Amino acid sequence: MPKSSEVRVRFAPSPTGELHVGGARTALFNWLYARQNKGTFLLRIEDTDEDRSSEESTQGIFTALKWLGLDSDEDPIYQSTRSDLYRDYVSLLMNSGNAYYCFCSAEEIEAKRQEAVEKGEGWRYDGTWRDRSPEDVQAMLDAGAPKVVRFKVPEEGTTVVDDQIHGEVSFGNENLEDFTLLRSDEKPTYHLSNVVDDIEMGVTHVIRGADHLPNTPKQILVYEALDAKVPVFAHLPLILGPDKKRLSKRHGATSVTHFRSKGYLSGAVINYLALLGWSPGDDREIFTLHELTKEFSLDRVNSSNAEFDVEKLGWLNGKYISEVPAGELMNSVRDALSNRGCWQEELEMERRDYIFALIDLWQSRSRTINELADNIAPFLTEAFPYLPEALAENIRGKDLLGPVEALREGLTQVDPWNQEELEVTIRQLAEGFELEASELIQPCRIAVTGKASSPGIFEVLELMGRENTRVRLDRMIRYLSKVKAAQEGATAVGS
Ligand code: GLU
Repeated sequence: MPKSSEVRVRFAPSPTGELHVGGARTALFNWLYARQNKGTFLLRIEDTDEDRSSEESTQGIFTALKWLGLDSDEDPIYQSTRSDLYRDYVSLLMNSGNAYYCFCSAEEIEAKRQEAVEKGEGWRYDGTWRDRSPEDVQAMLDAGAPKVVRFKVPEEGTTVVDDQIHGEVSFGNENLEDFTLLRSDEKPTYHLSNVVDDIEMGVTHVIRGADHLPNTPKQILVYEALDAKVPVFAHLPLILGPDKKRLSKRHGATSVTHFRSKGYLSGAVINYLALLGWSPGDDREIFTLHELTKEFSLDRVNSSNAEFDVEKLGWLNGKYISEVPAGELMNSVRDALSNRGCWQEELEMERRDYIFALIDLWQSRSRTINELADNIAPFLTEAFPYLPEALAENIRGKDLLGPVEALREGLTQVDPWNQEELEVTIRQLAEGFELEASELIQPCRIAVTGKASSPGIFEVLELMGRENTRVRLDRMIRYLSKVKAAQEGATAVGS
Protein backbone atom coordinates (compact mmCIF):
# COMPACT_ATOMS: atom_id res chain seq x y z
CA MET A 1 0.00 0.00 0.00
CA PRO A 2 1.31 3.48 -0.78
CA LYS A 3 2.23 5.68 2.18
CA SER A 4 -0.53 8.11 2.92
CA SER A 5 1.67 11.13 2.16
CA GLU A 6 2.98 9.74 -1.09
CA VAL A 7 2.06 11.56 -4.28
CA ARG A 8 0.66 9.19 -6.91
CA VAL A 9 -0.37 10.52 -10.28
CA ARG A 10 -1.32 8.82 -13.49
CA PHE A 11 -1.63 9.32 -17.19
CA ALA A 12 -4.74 7.55 -18.46
CA PRO A 13 -4.93 7.64 -22.26
CA SER A 14 -7.66 5.96 -24.28
CA PRO A 15 -5.76 4.02 -26.94
CA THR A 16 -7.85 5.14 -29.88
CA GLY A 17 -5.08 6.66 -31.98
CA GLU A 18 -1.64 8.17 -31.72
CA LEU A 19 -0.38 10.12 -28.74
CA HIS A 20 -1.16 13.74 -29.54
CA VAL A 21 0.36 16.94 -28.24
CA GLY A 22 -2.41 17.39 -25.66
CA GLY A 23 -2.02 13.89 -24.22
CA ALA A 24 1.74 14.20 -24.21
CA ARG A 25 1.49 17.49 -22.30
CA THR A 26 -0.80 15.81 -19.73
CA ALA A 27 1.68 12.95 -19.37
CA LEU A 28 4.56 15.40 -18.97
CA PHE A 29 2.89 17.49 -16.27
CA ASN A 30 1.96 14.37 -14.31
CA TRP A 31 5.46 12.98 -14.68
CA LEU A 32 7.01 16.26 -13.54
CA TYR A 33 4.68 16.47 -10.59
CA ALA A 34 5.62 12.94 -9.54
CA ARG A 35 9.36 13.50 -9.94
CA GLN A 36 9.19 16.74 -8.06
CA ASN A 37 7.33 15.29 -5.12
CA LYS A 38 9.32 12.08 -5.06
CA GLY A 39 6.07 10.42 -5.95
CA THR A 40 4.96 7.77 -8.41
CA PHE A 41 3.92 8.19 -12.02
CA LEU A 42 1.47 5.55 -13.19
CA LEU A 43 0.10 4.61 -16.54
CA ARG A 44 -3.42 3.36 -17.13
CA ILE A 45 -4.77 2.32 -20.50
CA GLU A 46 -8.46 3.19 -20.66
CA ASP A 47 -9.39 0.58 -23.22
CA THR A 48 -12.92 -0.40 -22.25
CA ASP A 49 -14.28 0.75 -25.59
CA GLU A 50 -13.44 -2.33 -27.64
CA ASP A 51 -14.50 -0.81 -30.93
CA ARG A 52 -12.28 2.21 -30.70
CA SER A 53 -9.30 0.88 -28.75
CA SER A 54 -6.45 -0.98 -30.36
CA GLU A 55 -3.27 -2.71 -29.30
CA GLU A 56 -1.46 -0.83 -32.04
CA SER A 57 -2.45 2.51 -30.46
CA THR A 58 -1.42 1.27 -27.03
CA GLN A 59 2.02 0.28 -28.31
CA GLY A 60 2.29 3.57 -30.18
CA ILE A 61 1.57 5.49 -26.96
CA PHE A 62 4.20 3.48 -25.07
CA THR A 63 6.78 4.12 -27.79
CA ALA A 64 6.02 7.84 -27.86
CA LEU A 65 6.23 8.14 -24.07
CA LYS A 66 9.50 6.27 -24.04
CA TRP A 67 10.92 8.53 -26.74
CA LEU A 68 9.92 11.55 -24.68
CA GLY A 69 11.60 10.02 -21.64
CA LEU A 70 8.38 9.82 -19.62
CA ASP A 71 8.77 6.38 -18.14
CA SER A 72 6.19 5.05 -15.70
CA ASP A 73 7.17 3.75 -12.30
CA GLU A 74 4.91 0.70 -12.25
CA ASP A 75 3.51 -1.68 -14.86
CA PRO A 76 0.60 -0.20 -16.79
CA ILE A 77 -2.94 -1.06 -15.79
CA TYR A 78 -5.36 -2.13 -18.53
CA GLN A 79 -9.00 -1.35 -17.81
CA SER A 80 -10.16 -4.05 -20.22
CA THR A 81 -8.90 -6.68 -17.76
CA ARG A 82 -10.73 -5.33 -14.71
CA SER A 83 -14.45 -5.82 -15.43
CA ASP A 84 -15.02 -7.83 -12.23
CA LEU A 85 -13.60 -5.03 -10.15
CA TYR A 86 -15.96 -2.47 -11.67
CA ARG A 87 -18.94 -4.75 -11.10
CA ASP A 88 -17.93 -5.17 -7.45
CA TYR A 89 -17.94 -1.43 -7.02
CA VAL A 90 -21.32 -1.18 -8.70
CA SER A 91 -22.65 -3.67 -6.14
CA LEU A 92 -21.33 -1.47 -3.35
CA LEU A 93 -23.10 1.53 -4.82
CA MET A 94 -26.34 -0.43 -5.33
CA ASN A 95 -26.26 -1.77 -1.79
CA SER A 96 -25.73 1.67 -0.30
CA GLY A 97 -28.66 3.06 -2.31
CA ASN A 98 -26.43 5.25 -4.50
CA ALA A 99 -27.19 3.45 -7.72
CA TYR A 100 -30.16 1.74 -9.32
CA TYR A 101 -31.19 -0.34 -12.29
CA CYS A 102 -32.76 1.48 -15.18
CA PHE A 103 -34.68 -0.54 -17.74
CA CYS A 104 -35.36 2.23 -20.24
CA SER A 105 -34.23 1.06 -23.64
CA ALA A 106 -31.85 3.14 -25.72
CA GLU A 107 -34.71 3.72 -28.21
CA GLU A 108 -37.04 4.96 -25.49
CA ILE A 109 -34.42 7.40 -24.25
CA GLU A 110 -33.63 8.54 -27.77
CA ALA A 111 -37.33 9.16 -28.49
CA LYS A 112 -37.66 11.32 -25.37
CA ARG A 113 -34.53 13.22 -26.26
CA GLN A 114 -35.82 13.84 -29.78
CA GLU A 115 -39.15 15.05 -28.46
CA ALA A 116 -37.39 17.54 -26.20
CA VAL A 117 -35.15 18.69 -29.04
CA GLU A 118 -38.20 19.27 -31.24
CA LYS A 119 -39.69 21.44 -28.53
CA GLY A 120 -36.37 23.30 -28.40
CA GLU A 121 -35.63 22.01 -24.92
CA GLY A 122 -32.62 20.29 -23.44
CA TRP A 123 -33.14 16.80 -22.05
CA ARG A 124 -31.52 14.77 -19.37
CA TYR A 125 -32.54 11.41 -17.98
CA ASP A 126 -35.87 11.95 -16.24
CA GLY A 127 -35.48 9.44 -13.41
CA THR A 128 -38.08 6.97 -14.74
CA TRP A 129 -36.54 4.13 -12.72
CA ARG A 130 -35.02 6.17 -9.89
CA ASP A 131 -37.60 5.51 -7.22
CA ARG A 132 -39.43 2.44 -8.52
CA SER A 133 -40.69 -0.17 -6.13
CA PRO A 134 -38.52 -3.24 -5.50
CA GLU A 135 -41.36 -5.35 -6.98
CA ASP A 136 -41.31 -3.46 -10.27
CA VAL A 137 -37.59 -3.86 -10.49
CA GLN A 138 -37.72 -7.55 -9.59
CA ALA A 139 -40.37 -8.19 -12.22
CA MET A 140 -38.11 -6.71 -14.91
CA LEU A 141 -35.13 -8.67 -13.64
CA ASP A 142 -37.18 -11.88 -13.69
CA ALA A 143 -38.23 -11.13 -17.24
CA GLY A 144 -34.54 -10.76 -18.15
CA ALA A 145 -35.09 -7.22 -19.46
CA PRO A 146 -31.94 -5.39 -20.56
CA LYS A 147 -30.78 -2.80 -18.01
CA VAL A 148 -28.11 -0.30 -17.16
CA VAL A 149 -27.02 0.89 -13.73
CA ARG A 150 -27.35 4.59 -13.03
CA PHE A 151 -25.88 6.73 -10.29
CA LYS A 152 -28.40 8.45 -8.06
CA VAL A 153 -27.33 12.09 -8.11
CA PRO A 154 -28.58 14.06 -5.09
CA GLU A 155 -31.51 16.23 -6.15
CA GLU A 156 -30.28 19.30 -4.33
CA GLY A 157 -27.08 20.95 -3.26
CA THR A 158 -23.94 21.79 -5.13
CA THR A 159 -20.80 19.86 -5.85
CA VAL A 160 -17.66 21.93 -5.69
CA VAL A 161 -14.50 21.06 -7.60
CA ASP A 162 -11.62 22.61 -5.72
CA ASP A 163 -9.28 22.80 -8.66
CA GLN A 164 -5.58 23.61 -8.28
CA ILE A 165 -5.63 25.63 -11.48
CA HIS A 166 -9.18 26.94 -11.84
CA GLY A 167 -9.99 27.50 -8.19
CA GLU A 168 -13.39 26.50 -6.81
CA VAL A 169 -15.85 25.59 -9.55
CA SER A 170 -19.42 24.88 -8.37
CA PHE A 171 -21.95 22.67 -10.11
CA GLY A 172 -25.61 22.55 -9.10
CA ASN A 173 -26.60 18.92 -8.56
CA GLU A 174 -29.99 19.58 -10.12
CA ASN A 175 -28.17 20.08 -13.41
CA LEU A 176 -26.43 16.72 -13.31
CA GLU A 177 -28.34 13.75 -14.67
CA ASP A 178 -28.38 10.28 -13.16
CA PHE A 179 -25.50 9.13 -15.31
CA THR A 180 -24.82 5.55 -16.33
CA LEU A 181 -22.23 3.54 -14.44
CA LEU A 182 -22.64 0.14 -16.07
CA ARG A 183 -23.93 -0.34 -19.59
CA SER A 184 -26.37 -3.02 -20.68
CA ASP A 185 -23.45 -5.24 -21.73
CA GLU A 186 -22.04 -4.81 -18.20
CA LYS A 187 -19.17 -2.68 -19.48
CA PRO A 188 -18.27 0.20 -17.17
CA THR A 189 -18.66 3.77 -18.34
CA TYR A 190 -15.74 6.16 -18.17
CA HIS A 191 -17.07 7.73 -14.95
CA LEU A 192 -17.14 4.40 -13.17
CA SER A 193 -13.89 2.82 -14.31
CA ASN A 194 -11.98 6.07 -14.00
CA VAL A 195 -13.00 6.62 -10.39
CA VAL A 196 -12.66 2.97 -9.36
CA ASP A 197 -9.15 2.79 -10.76
CA ASP A 198 -8.08 6.08 -9.26
CA ILE A 199 -9.21 4.72 -5.89
CA GLU A 200 -7.62 1.30 -6.42
CA MET A 201 -4.36 2.75 -7.71
CA GLY A 202 -4.15 5.17 -4.79
CA VAL A 203 -4.10 8.20 -7.08
CA THR A 204 -3.73 11.35 -5.00
CA HIS A 205 -3.70 13.99 -7.75
CA VAL A 206 -5.70 13.91 -10.96
CA ILE A 207 -3.95 16.16 -13.48
CA ARG A 208 -5.73 16.12 -16.85
CA GLY A 209 -7.15 18.32 -19.59
CA ALA A 210 -9.77 20.98 -18.81
CA ASP A 211 -12.15 19.18 -21.17
CA HIS A 212 -12.73 16.82 -18.23
CA LEU A 213 -13.71 19.55 -15.78
CA PRO A 214 -17.48 19.09 -16.46
CA ASN A 215 -17.07 15.36 -15.66
CA THR A 216 -15.47 16.02 -12.33
CA PRO A 217 -18.56 16.81 -10.18
CA LYS A 218 -20.09 13.47 -11.22
CA GLN A 219 -16.90 11.70 -10.30
CA ILE A 220 -16.66 13.49 -6.95
CA LEU A 221 -20.17 12.28 -6.15
CA VAL A 222 -19.06 8.72 -6.84
CA TYR A 223 -16.04 9.09 -4.52
CA GLU A 224 -18.30 10.46 -1.81
CA ALA A 225 -20.84 7.70 -2.25
CA LEU A 226 -18.04 5.19 -1.85
CA ASP A 227 -16.65 6.99 1.17
CA ALA A 228 -13.36 7.30 -0.65
CA LYS A 229 -10.91 10.18 -0.39
CA VAL A 230 -11.44 12.63 -3.24
CA PRO A 231 -8.12 13.28 -5.01
CA VAL A 232 -6.75 16.74 -5.68
CA PHE A 233 -7.82 17.89 -9.14
CA ALA A 234 -5.85 20.05 -11.54
CA HIS A 235 -7.35 20.67 -14.97
CA LEU A 236 -4.80 21.81 -17.52
CA PRO A 237 -5.72 24.55 -19.99
CA LEU A 238 -6.98 23.50 -23.39
CA ILE A 239 -4.62 23.63 -26.32
CA LEU A 240 -5.92 25.64 -29.27
CA GLY A 241 -4.85 25.92 -32.88
CA PRO A 242 -3.92 29.25 -34.50
CA ASP A 243 -7.62 29.83 -35.28
CA LYS A 244 -8.36 29.68 -31.51
CA LYS A 245 -10.35 26.47 -31.94
CA ARG A 246 -9.44 23.36 -30.01
CA LEU A 247 -6.39 21.70 -31.51
CA SER A 248 -7.49 18.81 -33.71
CA LYS A 249 -6.66 16.96 -36.90
CA ARG A 250 -7.95 19.94 -38.85
CA HIS A 251 -4.84 21.79 -37.76
CA GLY A 252 -2.55 19.20 -39.36
CA ALA A 253 -0.54 16.44 -37.82
CA THR A 254 -0.01 16.93 -34.11
CA SER A 255 1.03 13.49 -32.93
CA VAL A 256 4.29 12.93 -31.15
CA THR A 257 5.23 10.30 -33.75
CA HIS A 258 4.73 12.86 -36.50
CA PHE A 259 7.19 15.26 -34.92
CA ARG A 260 9.62 12.44 -34.24
CA SER A 261 9.53 11.32 -37.86
CA LYS A 262 9.94 14.89 -39.08
CA GLY A 263 13.20 15.10 -37.21
CA TYR A 264 12.31 16.94 -34.01
CA LEU A 265 14.40 16.17 -30.94
CA SER A 266 12.59 14.79 -27.93
CA GLY A 267 14.23 17.41 -25.70
CA ALA A 268 12.80 20.22 -27.82
CA VAL A 269 9.35 18.65 -27.93
CA ILE A 270 9.36 18.23 -24.14
CA ASN A 271 10.53 21.81 -23.70
CA TYR A 272 7.78 23.08 -25.97
CA LEU A 273 5.07 20.97 -24.30
CA ALA A 274 6.08 22.39 -20.92
CA LEU A 275 5.41 25.89 -22.20
CA LEU A 276 1.86 24.95 -23.24
CA GLY A 277 0.17 26.31 -20.17
CA TRP A 278 3.12 26.59 -17.80
CA SER A 279 5.62 29.42 -17.54
CA PRO A 280 8.55 29.90 -15.21
CA GLY A 281 7.41 33.43 -14.28
CA ASP A 282 10.25 35.12 -16.16
CA ASP A 283 11.31 35.19 -19.78
CA ARG A 284 13.32 31.97 -19.81
CA GLU A 285 12.16 29.52 -22.44
CA ILE A 286 14.79 26.81 -22.65
CA PHE A 287 14.50 23.97 -20.17
CA THR A 288 15.76 20.42 -20.15
CA LEU A 289 13.58 17.75 -18.63
CA HIS A 290 15.92 17.79 -15.66
CA GLU A 291 15.57 21.55 -15.20
CA LEU A 292 11.81 21.30 -15.57
CA THR A 293 11.74 18.80 -12.74
CA LYS A 294 13.15 21.50 -10.51
CA GLU A 295 11.27 24.47 -11.90
CA PHE A 296 7.82 23.14 -12.71
CA SER A 297 4.94 23.90 -10.39
CA LEU A 298 1.19 23.59 -10.74
CA ASP A 299 0.90 27.09 -9.28
CA ARG A 300 2.41 28.47 -12.43
CA VAL A 301 0.03 26.70 -14.78
CA ASN A 302 -2.37 29.16 -16.40
CA SER A 303 -6.08 28.68 -16.41
CA SER A 304 -6.39 30.36 -19.81
CA ASN A 305 -6.09 28.34 -22.99
CA ALA A 306 -2.71 27.73 -24.56
CA GLU A 307 -2.00 28.10 -28.26
CA PHE A 308 -0.06 25.50 -30.21
CA ASP A 309 2.40 27.31 -32.42
CA VAL A 310 4.25 24.93 -34.70
CA GLU A 311 6.55 27.77 -35.81
CA LYS A 312 7.72 28.24 -32.26
CA LEU A 313 8.27 24.52 -31.86
CA GLY A 314 10.37 24.63 -35.03
CA TRP A 315 12.37 27.56 -33.69
CA LEU A 316 12.96 25.77 -30.41
CA ASN A 317 13.96 22.60 -32.20
CA GLY A 318 16.42 24.55 -34.34
CA LYS A 319 17.90 26.01 -31.19
CA TYR A 320 18.33 22.56 -29.70
CA ILE A 321 19.87 21.21 -32.87
CA SER A 322 22.33 24.07 -33.02
CA GLU A 323 23.43 23.61 -29.44
CA VAL A 324 23.66 19.84 -29.08
CA PRO A 325 27.20 18.45 -29.59
CA ALA A 326 27.49 16.98 -33.11
CA GLY A 327 28.16 13.53 -31.64
CA GLU A 328 24.71 13.43 -30.07
CA LEU A 329 23.06 14.07 -33.42
CA MET A 330 25.07 11.40 -35.20
CA ASN A 331 22.67 8.48 -34.83
CA SER A 332 19.57 10.36 -35.85
CA VAL A 333 21.36 12.00 -38.76
CA ARG A 334 22.64 8.64 -39.91
CA ASP A 335 19.09 7.22 -39.85
CA ALA A 336 17.76 10.17 -41.80
CA LEU A 337 20.58 9.84 -44.35
CA SER A 338 19.88 6.11 -44.68
CA ASN A 339 16.25 6.93 -45.39
CA ARG A 340 17.47 9.21 -48.16
CA GLY A 341 19.59 6.40 -49.54
CA CYS A 342 22.84 8.27 -49.06
CA TRP A 343 24.43 6.49 -46.20
CA GLN A 344 26.69 3.64 -47.18
CA GLU A 345 27.32 1.25 -44.36
CA GLU A 346 30.65 0.09 -45.78
CA LEU A 347 31.95 3.63 -45.74
CA GLU A 348 30.71 4.24 -42.23
CA MET A 349 34.03 4.41 -40.43
CA GLU A 350 35.66 6.41 -43.16
CA ARG A 351 32.74 8.80 -43.34
CA ARG A 352 32.24 9.28 -39.65
CA ASP A 353 34.60 12.20 -39.29
CA TYR A 354 33.31 13.69 -42.50
CA ILE A 355 29.72 13.48 -41.23
CA PHE A 356 30.75 15.04 -37.94
CA ALA A 357 32.27 17.95 -39.81
CA LEU A 358 29.13 18.27 -41.95
CA ILE A 359 26.85 18.26 -38.91
CA ASP A 360 29.03 20.88 -37.37
CA LEU A 361 28.82 23.01 -40.50
CA TRP A 362 25.04 22.80 -40.88
CA GLN A 363 23.55 22.30 -37.45
CA SER A 364 23.02 25.97 -36.71
CA ARG A 365 21.07 26.32 -39.97
CA SER A 366 18.72 23.37 -39.63
CA ARG A 367 15.45 23.35 -37.73
CA THR A 368 14.93 19.61 -37.82
CA ILE A 369 17.07 16.51 -38.22
CA ASN A 370 15.40 15.99 -41.59
CA GLU A 371 16.43 19.44 -42.69
CA LEU A 372 19.94 18.74 -41.41
CA ALA A 373 20.04 15.51 -43.42
CA ASP A 374 18.73 17.35 -46.49
CA ASN A 375 21.50 19.88 -46.06
CA ILE A 376 24.15 17.21 -45.66
CA ALA A 377 22.94 14.91 -48.46
CA PRO A 378 24.52 16.96 -51.32
CA PHE A 379 27.92 16.27 -49.76
CA LEU A 380 27.33 12.52 -50.05
CA THR A 381 25.37 12.14 -53.24
CA GLU A 382 25.07 13.96 -56.51
CA ALA A 383 21.36 13.27 -56.75
CA PHE A 384 19.90 16.22 -54.88
CA PRO A 385 17.40 18.74 -56.19
CA TYR A 386 18.11 22.36 -57.07
CA LEU A 387 15.50 24.48 -55.28
CA PRO A 388 13.30 26.14 -57.91
CA GLU A 389 13.33 29.49 -56.11
CA ALA A 390 17.13 29.41 -55.93
CA LEU A 391 17.26 28.85 -59.70
CA ALA A 392 14.66 31.53 -60.35
CA GLU A 393 16.56 34.14 -58.42
CA ASN A 394 20.11 33.40 -59.42
CA ILE A 395 20.22 31.60 -62.73
CA ARG A 396 17.17 32.22 -64.85
CA GLY A 397 17.69 34.85 -67.52
CA LYS A 398 21.47 34.98 -67.05
CA ASP A 399 24.10 33.54 -69.29
CA LEU A 400 26.26 31.76 -66.76
CA LEU A 401 27.41 28.78 -68.76
CA GLY A 402 30.77 30.31 -69.71
CA PRO A 403 31.61 31.57 -66.22
CA VAL A 404 30.70 28.25 -64.60
CA GLU A 405 32.76 26.32 -67.14
CA ALA A 406 35.66 28.61 -66.36
CA LEU A 407 35.05 28.06 -62.68
CA ARG A 408 35.30 24.32 -63.09
CA GLU A 409 38.58 24.72 -64.96
CA GLY A 410 39.89 27.33 -62.53
CA LEU A 411 39.23 25.13 -59.54
CA THR A 412 41.37 22.32 -60.94
CA GLN A 413 44.34 24.66 -60.40
CA VAL A 414 43.61 25.50 -56.77
CA ASP A 415 46.40 24.19 -54.61
CA PRO A 416 46.25 23.61 -51.72
CA TRP A 417 42.48 23.06 -51.64
CA ASN A 418 41.60 25.37 -48.81
CA GLN A 419 39.28 28.26 -48.12
CA GLU A 420 41.87 30.98 -48.69
CA GLU A 421 43.02 29.68 -52.06
CA LEU A 422 39.45 28.99 -53.17
CA GLU A 423 38.42 32.52 -52.33
CA VAL A 424 41.30 34.12 -54.26
CA THR A 425 40.60 31.98 -57.34
CA ILE A 426 36.86 32.50 -57.39
CA ARG A 427 37.11 36.25 -56.95
CA GLN A 428 39.67 36.50 -59.75
CA LEU A 429 37.51 34.44 -62.07
CA ALA A 430 34.48 36.63 -61.37
CA GLU A 431 36.50 39.76 -62.10
CA GLY A 432 37.66 38.24 -65.37
CA PHE A 433 34.02 38.01 -66.46
CA GLU A 434 33.21 41.44 -65.02
CA LEU A 435 30.83 39.82 -62.60
CA GLU A 436 30.21 40.59 -58.95
CA ALA A 437 31.76 37.76 -56.93
CA SER A 438 28.27 36.82 -55.75
CA GLU A 439 27.08 36.34 -59.33
CA LEU A 440 29.55 33.50 -59.69
CA ILE A 441 29.27 32.27 -56.14
CA GLN A 442 25.49 31.78 -56.32
CA PRO A 443 25.46 29.28 -59.21
CA CYS A 444 28.39 27.57 -57.55
CA ARG A 445 26.47 27.41 -54.28
CA ILE A 446 23.41 25.96 -55.99
CA ALA A 447 25.65 23.47 -57.78
CA VAL A 448 27.02 22.13 -54.51
CA THR A 449 24.08 22.55 -52.09
CA GLY A 450 20.96 22.95 -54.25
CA LYS A 451 20.14 26.12 -52.32
CA ALA A 452 20.70 29.86 -52.54
CA SER A 453 21.95 30.12 -48.98
CA SER A 454 24.45 28.05 -47.08
CA PRO A 455 27.33 28.44 -44.69
CA GLY A 456 30.29 30.35 -46.22
CA ILE A 457 30.85 28.97 -49.72
CA PHE A 458 34.63 28.67 -49.36
CA GLU A 459 34.22 26.64 -46.21
CA VAL A 460 31.61 24.50 -47.94
CA LEU A 461 33.89 23.85 -50.90
CA GLU A 462 36.89 23.06 -48.74
CA LEU A 463 34.90 20.46 -46.85
CA MET A 464 33.31 19.04 -49.98
CA GLY A 465 36.69 18.43 -51.58
CA ARG A 466 38.03 18.89 -55.07
CA GLU A 467 36.55 15.81 -56.72
CA ASN A 468 33.03 16.17 -55.29
CA THR A 469 33.01 19.83 -56.25
CA ARG A 470 34.08 19.04 -59.81
CA VAL A 471 31.36 16.41 -60.22
CA ARG A 472 28.71 18.84 -59.00
CA LEU A 473 29.94 21.67 -61.21
CA ASP A 474 29.78 19.27 -64.16
CA ARG A 475 26.17 18.63 -63.33
CA MET A 476 25.47 22.37 -63.15
CA ILE A 477 27.18 22.82 -66.51
CA ARG A 478 24.94 20.14 -68.03
CA TYR A 479 21.94 21.89 -66.54
CA LEU A 480 23.00 25.34 -67.83
CA SER A 481 23.69 23.90 -71.29
CA LYS A 482 20.22 22.44 -71.43
CA VAL A 483 18.66 25.73 -70.32
CA LYS A 484 20.70 27.58 -72.93
CA ALA A 485 19.74 25.13 -75.68
CA ALA A 486 16.09 25.42 -74.72
CA GLN A 487 16.28 29.22 -74.78
CA GLU A 488 17.99 29.24 -78.16
CA GLY A 489 15.39 26.77 -79.48
CA ALA A 490 12.63 29.05 -78.24
CA THR A 491 14.26 32.10 -79.83
CA ALA A 492 14.74 30.23 -83.11
CA VAL A 493 11.09 29.17 -83.12
CA GLY A 494 10.04 32.70 -82.25
CA SER A 495 12.16 34.35 -85.00
N1 GLU B 1 -9.11 8.34 -20.88
C1 GLU B 1 -9.36 9.72 -20.56
C2 GLU B 1 -8.81 10.56 -21.68
O1 GLU B 1 -8.00 10.08 -22.46
C3 GLU B 1 -8.67 10.05 -19.25
C4 GLU B 1 -9.32 11.06 -18.44
C5 GLU B 1 -8.64 11.25 -17.10
O2 GLU B 1 -7.42 11.48 -17.09
O3 GLU B 1 -9.30 11.13 -16.10
O4 GLU B 1 -9.18 11.70 -21.84
